[in-house]
Amino acid sequence: MTMFDTVLIANRGEIALRILRACRSLGLKTVAIHSEADRGLRHVQLADKSLCIGPAQARDSYLNISSILLAAKATGAGAIHPGYGFLSENAGFAEAVERAGLVFIGPTADAIRTMGDKIAAKAAMRAAGVPCVPGSDGALPDEAWRVRHIAAETGYPVIIKASGGGGGRGMRIVRREEDLADAVSLTREEAARAFGNPDVYMEMFLEHPRHIEIQVLADADGNAVMLGERDCSMQRRHQKVIEEAPAPGIARDVIERIGARCVAACRQIGYRGAGTFEFLYENGEFFFIEMNTRVQVEHPVTEMVTGVDIVREQILIAMGEKLSIRQEDVALRGHAIECRINAEDPFTFAPEPGRVDTHRPPGGPGLRLETHLYDGYEVPPHYDSLVAKLIAHGNSREEAITRMKTALREYEIGGLTTNMPLQRLLMNEPGFCAGGFDIHHLESLLANGHIGPEAEP
Ligand code: ADP
Repeated sequence: MTMFDTVLIANRGEIALRILRACRSLGLKTVAIHSEADRGLRHVQLADKSLCIGPAQARDSYLNISSILLAAKATGAGAIHPGYGFLSENAGFAEAVERAGLVFIGPTADAIRTMGDKIAAKAAMRAAGVPCVPGSDGALPDEAWRVRHIAAETGYPVIIKASGGGGGRGMRIVRREEDLADAVSLTREEAARAFGNPDVYMEMFLEHPRHIEIQVLADADGNAVMLGERDCSMQRRHQKVIEEAPAPGIARDVIERIGARCVAACRQIGYRGAGTFEFLYENGEFFFIEMNTRVQVEHPVTEMVTGVDIVREQILIAMGEKLSIRQEDVALRGHAIECRINAEDPFTFAPEPGRVDTHRPPGGPGLRLETHLYDGYEVPPHYDSLVAKLIAHGNSREEAITRMKTALREYEIGGLTTNMPLQRLLMNEPGFCAGGFDIHHLESLLANGHIGPEAEP
């Protein structure tokens, strides 16, 4: 057992509050670190101790490793929870935390490093028997004729991807051989500049995939379970807008088979903590694209259908405890949907920071709200625009949708521009209501004018 009684929360916003609550449920004390722009955050007010660690710009505060470690020393924190974003998938940070004699609440630095390099991650997954998108087995060679040969074997269209890429950047689709050489060299240059790693690889481009991901939990003793899947196909510009669990129309035995592969992969690579295997799903087949080595924004939908508190489990695993749940204990109940509520224009997606005059949260059976908003809170312009996550659970998908519709009508965030008008339209949109649409669904609705400002309810 690794004992610590105080956790430093190296994040902000709704996830910082979520981590604080998990710490409290375990009787742990909390330290909030924050930037100058974030003195008014809810978790800063609630934490046992708080410390300002720098100016508003994330690189001077939430990304400043030495300030965070100093804050941990000064406050007597024994462990650091990185949340999502910021330093959560930074192997150097995980290493620095451990070197400072503190516990990093997450996987080992080695696991983060391997999964952060997409070529290495795919190689590890292929070796563990997880199905991957066909394409180049590793980095593309320099010779153009060899690249052409790999593309011909893979079959057009193909996608060229940067090994160090992330956040939807460093990718290029190629439909014809004459465009191949340029696409490869452009992606290489971009990758070298943006990620400091010029390695690129090739995959078959799937035209109509769904985004299906598998949630896992693994302890340091090699026990691992999968907590089912999430469907995150409702996206714009590669950003998830709505997530749900389970995925409509995919048979349980199909999910159980791919989940078992993910669990086996966790054991094989010595994975520890919470993790997500992301897949593209097309014509009944799963293709691994990447693994996220942290808690995800959309983890609540899994919590609602399994009853497992994923953040609490992350902390227990970091303490060296054995997983308290076995695979046979994991049962899915009903259906859960999450709407991400962003401070942004609902149709152009331009960020709209501002002041919340009145915050009137919805309520009722099966509802959960994760937010740091309150009356008078000012959303700063410096960070991600996510301000709330509304989660509805029901015995069936229909019931979850009905509850979400009621909640979205009721929820009032006065004074702030949010994407709730878009979410209200989507809850009535035939494709969404039917379920099982692909990752291009929302963008094609917007492009065709089927959804837009004039249709606002
Ligand atoms: P990132 O780390 O930048 O998010 P991913 O590898 O997860 O990169 O891919 C991001 C998105 O790009 C996917 O969700 C999907 O929409 C698209 N994409 C990636 N690879 C393929 C592929 N082989 N075929 C079709 N779309 C793809």
